[in-house]
Amino acid sequence: MLAMEYRGPKRVRAVQKPMPEIKHPQDAIVRVLRACICGSDLHLYNGNIPDTRVGSTFGHEFVGEIVEIGADVTKVKVGDRVIVPFNIACGECHFCRQGMFGNCQESNTESTAVGAIFGYSHTAGGFNGGQAEYARVPYANVGPVIIPDDMDLDDAVLLTDVVPTGYQGAEMAGIQTGDTVVVFGAGPIGIMAARCAWLFGAGRVIIIDKEEYRLEFARNYSYCEAYNFEEIGDPVVFIKKITDWLGADCVIDAVGAEAAGNALQTITGRKLLLQAGSATALHWAINSVKKGGIVSIVGVYGPTDNLIPIGNAMNKGLTIRGNQTSVKRLLPRLIEHVQNGIINPKGLITHRMPLEEVADGYRMFSDKLDNCIKTVLMP
Ligand code: NAD
Ligand code: ZN
Repeated sequence: MLAMEYRGPKRVRAVQKPMPEIKHPQDAIVRVLRACICGSDLHLYNGNIPDTRVGSTFGHEFVGEIVEIGADVTKVKVGDRVIVPFNIACGECHFCRQGMFGNCQESNTESTAVGAIFGYSHTAGGFNGGQAEYARVPYANVGPVIIPDDMDLDDAVLLTDVVPTGYQGAEMAGIQTGDTVVVFGAGPIGIMAARCAWLFGAGRVIIIDKEEYRLEFARNYSYCEAYNFEEIGDPVVFIKKITDWLGADCVIDAVGAEAAGNALQTITGRKLLLQAGSATALHWAINSVKKGGIVSIVGVYGPTDNLIPIGNAMNKGLTIRGNQTSVKRLLPRLIEHVQNGIINPKGLITHRMPLEEVADGYRMFSDKLDNCIKTVLMP
């Protein structure tokens, strides 16, 4: 089958690989119908996630048709078209039982911090992903959700990550009615978080990025104010100025590792993310939220140890929340929101290409070419 393959930083290609096989009675094999490239894939692509192995296939955002099931699979059958949440979760451990599917204790053999994720390095389980013609889906009784007949596959594929992650980012921000919410990062996730902030009662939503076309997109899609951090001076001062010097009520970091300018340095054999001064979204978030406010971290930071202004956060009495999204927990209500027209996921899709052109897809998304917001690969 054709599949995306990682060859090293900034090098991916489409190659022929062996078909995935059922390895466990709870596995299913899915024929992929749509797969997306995510900002999280860019951390892998840029070499920012430890233990990303050459030869692996990325892709944690995919939908498809079940073509084979293991002996113990009862919740889906061959022929079903399914949304596959990006988390690989057992559904039965201490955390899954609380709906924390992103923190499954069982699925990740090499780290207990997060559960496994499709196509997301050996620090997240070492599973191959769905940027391929076929993918193996473990715990097929737990993750996959049948796509409603009236749902467009383009909407469905964005329910695997982008919609739930934007929504969870807004949820973690603890938005109260009338709050001023600032979102750093106007990629698909930040744009969706800004859109969802209104659902929680925000009174004012502001997004900050440096890509003009993304800011313009966010104004139209998320109905928010949008500012270019290369033009507004110090974003922290800017935000204070427009909030009577109080700071924003809630700030969402939808940027992650790239904001640190990829400043990775190996210290005593461990990768530590070095952040240059205050020029990062997370520094800006902590410094621009009001005292007692909430910072919601959606952005992925790769290495487990990072430097953040914790002294300032402590003095300000902040609440800092973050997590990998628990996609399955949110799917029932988000499917309804899509069916009722409250969220329009496919409105984010700007590009579509065959899997053969996956290298172009990564380059375009990474380099922000051709006004790219979200790319769908069609295996
Ligand atoms: P993206 O790369 O398309 O968007 C990131 C945006 O941040 C870009 O538009 C970039 O110009 C902007 N940016 C860079 N530095 C900035 C700064 N200092 N201030 C403001 N904006 C800045 O990625 P995406 O697909 O939108 O994903 C965003 C983040 O969310 C990534 O870190 C991704 O890994 C993470 N993510 C997390 C989860 C989760 O479960 N928590 C799920 C999906 C994605
Ligand atoms: Zn993703």
